[in-house]
Amino acid sequence: MTYVVLMGGPGAGKGTQAKRLQASLGLPQVATGDLFRENLKNNTELGQLARTFMDRGDLVPDEVTVAMVRDRLSRPDCANGVLFDGFPRTIPQAEALDELLHEFGAQVDVVPYIHVHPDLLLQRLAGRWTCRQCGHVYHKLFNPPQQDGVCDLDGSELYQRADDTEETQKRRIDVYFELTAPLLDFYRERGLLAEVDGEQSIDQVQSALIDVIKQAA
Ligand code: ADP
Ligand code: AMP
Repeated sequence: MTYVVLMGGPGAGKGTQAKRLQASLGLPQVATGDLFRENLKNNTELGQLARTFMDRGDLVPDEVTVAMVRDRLSRPDCANGVLFDGFPRTIPQAEALDELLHEFGAQVDVVPYIHVHPDLLLQRLAGRWTCRQCGHVYHKLFNPPQQDGVCDLDGSELYQRADDTEETQKRRIDVYFELTAPLLDFYRERGLLAEVDGEQSIDQVQSALIDVIKQAA
């Protein structure tokens, strides 16, 4: 069992890497942002509630987020480990995750921290395009698709996330430094944090992540 928490600011490359690592490590990606967006698409009550926070770049309340993760973790594909992407984002969420994993006789095994300078985070978010069908992530300059607006993998349309306006991007970065960055010390003190240079190429970041995860597994 390997439970991995991918840390890093908005735009650091968590989703990009989680999608690639899923295949190479055989662990499912649990991305709370994706789960909220799925709820939004299906117009559920949870989706409606989450939208008000997401549109502003604020965090969805901890109880709501933790309940959604609890539900996701109870599915059989999570029994051998998980790649958490975008969760936990607050100290109370990290404490709740410890309790949830404890119920499964598991624990957080390693916390790779994808480190990227804040100025670059904004450039990453500003050029992000995502596949509507498979969720694969592109960047208009740093990782462009072969054909503008079309996913290389399945030919579906690419879109820019509703919360990728300049104002919301800035707010998400501020919220990250205020509420999420304290988690770095939380995990560092437990000897779980493993820093990876997130300004390398996507392939290089991936191989650095595989190294730190395999060391912990
Ligand atoms: P996060 O999930 O951490 O918010 P994403 O994985 O969505 O971040 O990546 C944000 C943007 O940065 C995307 O447009 C992605 O293509 C791009 N990106 C990710 N990793 C790198 C990298 N190592 N170098 C250049 N661009 C990257
Ligand atoms: P992401 O896809 O990780 O960039 O998340 C998009 C948005 O979803 C965030 O700005 C939050 O509004 C919400 N969100 C995602 N994960 C969490 C979380 N762990 N806690 C609270 N809100 C979250």
